[in-house]
Amino acid sequence: MIYLDYSATTPIGFEVLDTYNRTSKDFFGNPNSLHELGTKARNLMNSATKQIAEIFNIQDTEITYTNGATASNNLALIGIAMKYHQKGKHIIVSKLEHPSIYAICDYLSSIGFEISYVNNDHEGLIDFDDLKNLIREDTILVSICAVNSETGVRQPLKMIRQIIKKENPNTIIHSDMTQGVGKVSVNLHDVDLATFTSHKIYGPKGIGLLYKNNNINITPILYGSGKSNILNPGTPPVPLIVAFSKALRLATVDLEKRERFVERLNQKIVDALSKYEGVMINKTKYSIPHILNISLRNIKSETFLHALEEYEVYLSTNTACSSGNTSTSIMAIYDDKVRASSTLRISLSHLTTTDEINKFINYFDQIYRKLSGLHNTNE
Ligand code: PLP
Repeated sequence: MIYLDYSATTPIGFEVLDTYNRTSKDFFGNPNSLHELGTKARNLMNSATKQIAEIFNIQDTEITYTNGATASNNLALIGIAMKYHQKGKHIIVSKLEHPSIYAICDYLSSIGFEISYVNNDHEGLIDFDDLKNLIREDTILVSICAVNSETGVRQPLKMIRQIIKKENPNTIIHSDMTQGVGKVSVNLHDVDLATFTSHKIYGPKGIGLLYKNNNINITPILYGSGKSNILNPGTPPVPLIVAFSKALRLATVDLEKRERFVERLNQKIVDALSKYEGVMINKTKYSIPHILNISLRNIKSETFLHALEEYEVYLSTNTACSSGNTSTSIMAIYDDKVRASSTLRISLSHLTTTDEINKFINYFDQIYRKLSGLHNTNE
């Protein structure tokens, strides 16, 4: 098998799984319980949270666990909207967000919020002038992802923060950092809230977190019992939390070295695929190497994906969450319907091998010849 879909999800790390199993077995107490087993579980959970806080250079009280990035995005956007609606109902998001952000915006729009979509240039970079012009007195929130999930375009959040806060110091900034963490460095101090999920960094599925600066208040969207965290009531999943913390520790070491290696693999693919007339490489100078997007002219990306599957090569058409649709990110960057209508996302990891890439290039060539030949005879 050749797995080239690491941005959809990652296999759980061996050590992480071991941590999960051991915690499930030895720390099964409810961390909300007052007895010894509860205390043991609570202490372990608290030290895992402290480790996460140290990795991100934040306070442990600024972490709320959720069941993943979609849930964190919901808590952030709806939580802010509900808390600050009397101050304003204007929200700005980029055109390069994950579909979950747009779904939440649709909901917020249906209950009276006004959503603006900030433009970007042809490299995918947020248009700073447009952002500046969009910010108003009643803009309560700007949400811009750190790394776009389809193209890997990375935004300069520090600069974006300066622009926003200069225009309106009360505007709150959220960033979906799901595709950034574990691939490139992320700085939580560039934003007020940030979204993460464990299954993109070799952690277990079903756990994510929302960072929320202690100076920001948000309205809970879930209500219940349990004193661990008012924003996420109920019994905390201690094994998932401890395993997530472990995964995060393992994913955030040697970032630059890993990135250089992945860049070499990325370049190898770009060099090989650039020779096909019917392939367009959707890589900009802001794309991180772990995500490589291409468009196919005259071949349906889904057909190509299934042909690769025959060779046990796995990748995505645009993102796993929006497969089958026209790529919104490619439209936002290239403004080209043909280019956006048949895209493949090849996502790489430091675990990907050169041998896998060589084989992938070879299989790609065979399939491309066959499918483009088929197309020609059908014409
Ligand atoms: N945000 C981004 C940028 C993503 O890439 C994804 C997953 O593809 C999500 C959110 C959704 O993550 P989850 O599956 O943890 O809800």
